[in-house]
Amino acid sequence: MTRQIAALACALAVTLTTSSLAQVNPRVDPGVLQKIRAEGMDRSQVMSVFDQFVTAIGPRLAGSPEYKKAADWARDTLSSWGLADARLESWEFGRGWELERLVIEMVEPRYMPLHAYAEAWSASTRGEISGAPIFVGGKPLADLTAMRGRLAGAIVLSQPLVTAFVRADRVQPTTSGTPVRPGAPPMPRQGTQNQASPQQVAQLLREAGAGAILRSSAGEHGTVFVLGRDQGANAQPSIVVAAEHYNMVARMVENGHPVKLRVNMQTRFLTKDTSSYNVVAEIPGTDPALKDGVVLLGAHLDSWHTGTGATDNADGSAAVMEAMRILKAIGARPRRTIRVALWGGEEEGLLGSRAYVAAHYAGAANKVARDNVAAYLNLDPGMGPVYGWYME
Ligand SMILES: [Zn+2]
Repeated sequence: MTRQIAALACALAVTLTTSSLAQVNPRVDPGVLQKIRAEGMDRSQVMSVFDQFVTAIGPRLAGSPEYKKAADWARDTLSSWGLADARLESWEFGRGWELERLVIEMVEPRYMPLHAYAEAWSASTRGEISGAPIFVGGKPLADLTAMRGRLAGAIVLSQPLVTAFVRADRVQPTTSGTPVRPGAPPMPRQGTQNQASPQQVAQLLREAGAGAILRSSAGEHGTVFVLGRDQGANAQPSIVVAAEHYNMVARMVENGHPVKLRVNMQTRFLTKDTSSYNVVAEIPGTDPALKDGVVLLGAHLDSWHTGTGATDNADGSAAVMEAMRILKAIGARPRRTIRVALWGGEEEGLLGSRAYVAAHYAGAANKVARDNVAAYLNLDPGMGPVYGWYME
């Protein structure tokens, strides 16, 4: 999207005062605003929707059965509220993935379970592996190549010690005096200048047939940042370990302590349904001259696999659904069509919204539909607290 307004739609519905909006635009009906406020404040369902996504369904990784469950539930719920044409729109995503089991523990010189997560689309280990880990992180390519013979089937610490941590939330536009770059900030660099590149390390480990690849995270105090993408035939068993535990094991290896780990990760690739889905529903416009115009509310429904995606982006999804519910419940008769879309595959690169644009707004054939979009409001505050409205 080239033009995005990150918006807390629910808060808009319930917090803007009748008088302030009416002063800005005399065509705003104060009675409707009063009804919106009462519906949102007195009969809100936003928490039960949020709870369904976060507590009942949980992680909603694109391509997973849980994502489909969330999309089906959202469609059925929007439909039950009386929204028109509540539907799933499918688009080609690729194979899904599920984690079935992950055990990673230190068994020598003392027992300790390690704090770690599977990278998404990681391959399985060949059953349980145990042995002394090999630390290759931060070494020059020549050193790695010399170690190659020891790597087959081994548990490998593939990244340098974590010395630069992420110690603050990203800067929020509302609390910054200077413009803030949209998107996630880059992760700090670890290691030295002459170390092998991540691509060289990955290739070497793949060719050597490493048994399990341990990666580090720049999060602190047990915070672990985990993503992942489908590497196809090159998928490896890849696990992200909390920095404090990663560094501890790596130091033991470096200092010659007899450390031994045990790892068993079992994952499953899902190829039966390679589609993902956007959820779409609307309140049709009522003005004969304007009803083809569309105000689009969007939020991504998918999340990563290691958490419940509460603030990224179940809160956004629940808020845009609640905004639609409120409008329908009060019998709003908008002049333009108001459409809600819950996107899939956002975390892998805005894939669901891009597919929607390709299907409905791109190219000469869609010029009329494109020109009819009056506004797009996107809600995706990401991690951290929800601060409010801003433009990016
Ligand atoms: Zn997000």
